[in-house]
Amino acid sequence: MAYDSENIFAKILRGEIPCNKVYEDEFVLAFHDINPLAPIHILVIPKGEYVSMADFTTKASAPQIAGLFRAVGQIAQDQGLDQSGYRILANSGSDSRQEVPHLHIHIFGGKRLGPMLT
Ligand code: 5GP
Repeated sequence: MAYDSENIFAKILRGEIPCNKVYEDEFVLAFHDINPLAPIHILVIPKGEYVSMADFTTKASAPQIAGLFRAVGQIAQDQGLDQSGYRILANSGSDSRQEVPHLHIHIFGGKRLGPMLT
């Protein structure tokens, strides 16, 4: 699937649409989900044109891949979730119901979460 540079997260990355930012570094931008499904629901997106996890792990450099996962761990720690626990999730492709075609990792926490899949 080709990258659609008009997707909503591309526009957020370019600053064309605002977001409630929680973290940014050279590799990622992280912000609160507009429709939170848990008391803490953060989206972490790589800086770059990656549709999915397959696209990212095929095309991104090792530092970019490490940077994304380091940022996820750092953000969860910054949010105070290490003790209580949290879940990360990345929908990828149609069976997963991925809505926005720019790779994003969800971080859910702040309450005891429900079963993993419904
Ligand atoms: P997906 O189903 O693709 O894994 O998740 C997409 C997520 O992006 C959803 O949880 C949805 O609420 C969130 N989202 C969609 N549009 C926006 C937006 O404009 N701003 C923010 N902050 N989140 C969005």
